[in-house]
Amino acid sequence: MTAAFESARRIADGAFWLGGCLSAFGHGEEVHYHVNAFLVIGDERAVLIDTGDPAHREMVLAQVEEVLAGRTLDYVVPTHPEIPHAGNLPALMQRYPQAVVVGEIRDYHLHFPEFADRLLALPPGRSIDLGGRELMLMPAHIRDLENTTWAWDSGAGVLFVSDGFSFIHDVPSPDEEEDEPVHRPGQCRLLSGEMPEPPTVAQAAYGTGRALYWTKFVDVSDAFTAIESLLDEHPTRFIGPAHGNVIDDVDGMLRTSLAAHRTVYQGRGLGL
Ligand SMILES: [Zn+2]
Ligand SMILES: [Zn+2]
Repeated sequence: MTAAFESARRIADGAFWLGGCLSAFGHGEEVHYHVNAFLVIGDERAVLIDTGDPAHREMVLAQVEEVLAGRTLDYVVPTHPEIPHAGNLPALMQRYPQAVVVGEIRDYHLHFPEFADRLLALPPGRSIDLGGRELMLMPAHIRDLENTTWAWDSGAGVLFVSDGFSFIHDVPSPDEEEDEPVHRPGQCRLLSGEMPEPPTVAQAAYGTGRALYWTKFVDVSDAFTAIESLLDEHPTRFIGPAHGNVIDDVDGMLRTSLAAHRTVYQGRGLGL
């Protein structure tokens, strides 16, 4: 159930949504928790942001291969070295021997000593030139590790926010008909604006509290001010969270996510 095949979805020209969902329990019922990765393809080079969960390894490899359609993977930018974000790095590095890991890689040689010679440090503010578009590394204003990194695709205006802006979605209830799989395409690949209802504050609070334990203890109002100026300077049509549907209603989700952080911080975070 946790690894039913999902195809990649094209978000915009050259920007693709990969990965899958894991089952979790929230609101006393089964819900889905995304573990996403994103592929951005320029005229000359391609970069994968995050690597998906090891539970989805074969699926992610198949999605990458399908989207690349014969091209190779040049760069991998894990947003931080935790397993749902970097866990498929070894498989990807083996599959694509030319690929280089780029970003805030300060401790990656300890996690992945076999690939120590394929790590390229690049600080926030610097870009990877993909040919006709750039992936700019960004400071992570909401982060769970010291070296968490965000990134922005100049081509389609997608901001990749790692554990920021997390939310869960409900598992579509199975039809009366019998052999309908539980994990139907359902909501898993819908943009936030395509969902039957926009993500609720409660769904965002669950995702936020689960991905970012510290949010119980920190008022993030300053971080949201910084995020707003980042969005002003870098036109953003989509937000790609690691643990939620891709967001196309950027302004609305900013408000929902800020309210979710306040809910978690004020200890009303659904018992989390
Ligand atoms: Zn995460
Ligand atoms: Zn799902």
